[in-house]
Amino acid sequence: MSKLSIRDLPLNDHRILMRVDFNVPLEDGRVMDDTRIRETLPTIEYALRHGARLILASHLGRPKGKPNPLMSLKTVAERLRMMLDKELARGENVGFCPDCVGIEAEEMAGKLEKGQTLLLENLRFHSEEEANDEKFAKQLAALADYYVNDAFGTAHRAHASTVGITKFVQKSAAGLLMEKELEYLGRAMSHPEKPFVAILGGAKVSDKIAVIQHLLGKVNTLIVGGAMAYTFLKAQGQPVGKSRVEDDKLDLAKKILQDAKSHNVRFLLPVDHVVADRIDANAKAQTVKTIPENLMGLDIGPESAELFSEEISRAATIVWNGPMGVFELSPFSKGTFKLARAVAENPAATSIVGGGDSVSAVKAAGVEDKITHISTGGGASLEFLEGKDLPGVKALTDKR
Ligand code: AMP
Repeated sequence: MSKLSIRDLPLNDHRILMRVDFNVPLEDGRVMDDTRIRETLPTIEYALRHGARLILASHLGRPKGKPNPLMSLKTVAERLRMMLDKELARGENVGFCPDCVGIEAEEMAGKLEKGQTLLLENLRFHSEEEANDEKFAKQLAALADYYVNDAFGTAHRAHASTVGITKFVQKSAAGLLMEKELEYLGRAMSHPEKPFVAILGGAKVSDKIAVIQHLLGKVNTLIVGGAMAYTFLKAQGQPVGKSRVEDDKLDLAKKILQDAKSHNVRFLLPVDHVVADRIDANAKAQTVKTIPENLMGLDIGPESAELFSEEISRAATIVWNGPMGVFELSPFSKGTFKLARAVAENPAATSIVGGGDSVSAVKAAGVEDKITHISTGGGASLEFLEGKDLPGVKALTDKR
């Protein structure tokens, strides 16, 4: 990696401000899923073991620039204390500051001792955070000597805590989680082992055009499922009934299909479909080769799942983003789950899964531990696959 890592920083006795992604689901003041905290725990423990005075900053939810007790990180501080290694979480070692900037934050950060942690209140209680306001960034930077970014999920956003702050600290480095994300995604995009198979699904072609275009120059096979597939099938002149189609993208879909040919990329679309008259778990679902006029395609059919799985079994690199159907409803979930299993059943391949839905499908299929890398950032991983520079990564200090 061309950027500094937390391992390159002199942590001992220094105040480190670490941007983490503690944007966890809360219900009645309780953390409902602590995956995001768990993901960044190795970086936090690494910093503490190396004697850092650690200040953690995160956003939670969309408070729209105003304090909102329902989106307070206070509960997260308690959960973090429970999750940290007992040695590191002793006594007063995990504190919480009711604001992320200002006199109290400065005082609390100033009093931190080696191996202690202070979690700051939700960054987005200040509108200046998302506006990447310079004064606010300076206030955050004033709390620390060095900055570490371990929040890959927000690296595609230029906010005060991801970009602005880097101008006002001595050095800015990637945390261990950020490093891992960049390593896996970076390797897949720059020198993937071939055959390289990408699987794209989800609701809209328009969200993934840039990804498709960028991937066409890199992959051997592109598998397209989900509602996205119907725009391509319609562009090929196939009947799609009432399936979700972006009519204004038909010409572009045709062009993409041509580009795939000229790049020698196998472009696989579903050859059969699970259809129904509405998106409803109680609707009558049936499998068809040709979609009738009054029905819509809501999942790939078994033959498509088989065809896609075979292709996946031969891959050396697999990147997957987006479900193959309306997988939230059980009659339309089989295709997505079958693909999750197919990816897991190719242990020789490097497999990378990104995007909230594909990640939950992999988890629901119980094959999470058989995936090489599950990305923690949906939007950020998509932008990475588009070949874009992520502002939060670009802003980190170069190694040389
Ligand atoms: P995205 O956020 O673009 O990855 O899209 C995910 C959403 O696409 C999920 O909520 C799926 O239910 C939805 N989806 C996938 N396939 C279809 C389909 N054939 N028709 C309608 N929605 C779909």
